[in-house]
Amino acid sequence: MDSILNFSEEELQKITIEGGFPSFRSKQLYSWLYDKSILDLELMSNLDRSYKSFISNQFKFKTIEIIKSIASDDRQTIKLLLELCDKETVEIVIMRYPEKQTTKIRNTLCISSQIGCQIACPFCATGQSGFKRNLTTAEILEQLFLANNYLRNTVNNSEKINNIVFMGMGEPFLNWEAVKNAATIMNTRFKIGERRITISTSGVTKGIEALADLGKQWVLAISLHGSNNQLRDELVPINKKYPLEELIQSCRYYMNKANRRITFEYIMIHNKNIGLQNSRELGLLLKGLKCHINGIPLNETEEYPYKKPSKNEMNFFRTAVEKEGISFSIREEKGQSINGACGQLRNQRKGLL
Ligand code: SF4
Repeated sequence: MDSILNFSEEELQKITIEGGFPSFRSKQLYSWLYDKSILDLELMSNLDRSYKSFISNQFKFKTIEIIKSIASDDRQTIKLLLELCDKETVEIVIMRYPEKQTTKIRNTLCISSQIGCQIACPFCATGQSGFKRNLTTAEILEQLFLANNYLRNTVNNSEKINNIVFMGMGEPFLNWEAVKNAATIMNTRFKIGERRITISTSGVTKGIEALADLGKQWVLAISLHGSNNQLRDELVPINKKYPLEELIQSCRYYMNKANRRITFEYIMIHNKNIGLQNSRELGLLLKGLKCHINGIPLNETEEYPYKKPSKNEMNFFRTAVEKEGISFSIREEKGQSINGACGQLRNQRKGLL
């Protein structure tokens, strides 16, 4: 049986009419799904019993359960461990922060695109636990349903996700069809603006070019982490397949075609990648690119022997990179108290941590 999330409004209407029900029933159903983020037929109170019974025989609804949740003390960061129908698990993170210059809350969902990850970055708990399988479009969307329900039921009735980052488990461009479809539905059915959807890649150049060709306003983020091939081979092993020269070439293609700024993520590691030489290399590498670097302090784990830099070291590096003419900011550390880094909660459950 197919997930109901794979069907458009028009398709649901057609199936409803062919089943002998008035078309307004499909509108009600669609509204429960995408206006209210309800994926449980029992809760759709204005649908009559015979229509519910008909629909439940046509489609799969909820396939994922929240099996663990932890929140930071201020409840601004919430991490959920989800169990899928084959008992595999993925993590999502909800980040609740005030929007700049408004009183509104920006609720960002860090969403997963795969179970595990092939890229195997050495500092990442997900990367160290191997790859299982791709998520389907419906499984990606269901993460959004669960996050919205969690916010409504445990935080605030009126809050919902209004910002998406594909920065959870997995490499989105290695599951591109499902990610592309899910992101499109987030925009068209959930009404999340295109510019509020970020695709974050470890540097799959073919994916970057495909995104440029798509003509969407989605934000592109690239995990750079190293200023030369030797460093990046170690920190983002896919660099051996798509070295920096190729990566930057695809960035230029993206910039010319999409005319959008690129965000580079750069994990800052003590005594590793934040020296003066690194800032100079970044200056040469990114020259002429419309871009911004997000410096992220390393999230220390027992498995990865390196340390995060001191505040002084980070500020020194930021100034050095800015002197090269590149915009740079240091990302606030969030979610530390709840093992905020990707994959840690899942590995704890599997007994890997
Ligand atoms: S950091 Fe991202 S790309 Fe690297 S292993 Fe972890 S999930 Fe995969």
